[in-house]
Amino acid sequence: MKKLLLALSLAFTLVAVAADTKVDTSKFKDGGCCQKADKKGEKCNHPCCVKAAKDSKVCEKCNPVEKAEPTKK
Ligand SMILES: [Zn+2]
Ligand SMILES: [Zn+2]
Repeated sequence: MKKLLLALSLAFTLVAVAADTKVDTSKFKDGGCCQKADKKGEKCNHPCCVKAAKDSKVCEKCNPVEKAEPTKK
């Protein structure tokens, strides 16, 4: 029984780790704090970004979602 629990907790840990790295880096704003950190192989250490990353999200403050506006070119 103990082995089963150990295996289960290990599985949950792996899932948690997998979810943690599931942040969509393509959502990072170009030249933004998060993208810069990501390029260095690090995670952005802004408190707002850390909080968002914990939820497997990209910080919306620093990486505002681009609205469906026609891009001027
Ligand atoms: Zn950031
Ligand atoms: Zn942020």
